Amino acid sequence: MTICQNVYFKLKKYVPDDPPEMGGLFGGRNGVITSVAFDQGVSRSMCSYTPDVNRMNAVIEKWNLKGMEFLGIFHTHFLGVRTLSEADKKYIKQILNAMPEYIVQLYFPIMVLPERDLIPYVAISQKPDVLIQKEELIIL
Ligand SMILES: [Zn+2]
Repeated sequence: MTICQNVYFKLKKYVPDDPPEMGGLFGGRNGVITSVAFDQGVSRSMCSYTPDVNRMNAVIEKWNLKGMEFLGIFHTHFLGVRTLSEADKKYIKQILNAMPEYIVQLYFPIMVLPERDLIPYVAISQKPDVLIQKEELIIL
């Protein structure tokens, strides 16, 4: 997962330290993350982020008009939890399977608090399944 330095620093700076979990959408060009749109999610509980799909679609559409690609979604985890939960994996699969054919992979990193480490995961479409694995972080 390749991310521009300014986006990386923006995440580190603006992500709140306190619950509830939040997240954001990544956009970019040629697979490189160049933009983030923060998202409070649809809050069903204090400890699990679920993206706001309506907002997500509006942002993706806006980016497409500017020639930008939708590249994925990050969200925060508290108490140093560095792995995706079962609920995370469930919505990741749903999102990737709902994407148009040409989108074959998306990034779903976790911003781990309080350390503020960004742990990259990639979801790869293998219809009808989705493979989720850890990735290397490259900061440009
Ligand atoms: Zn999570």
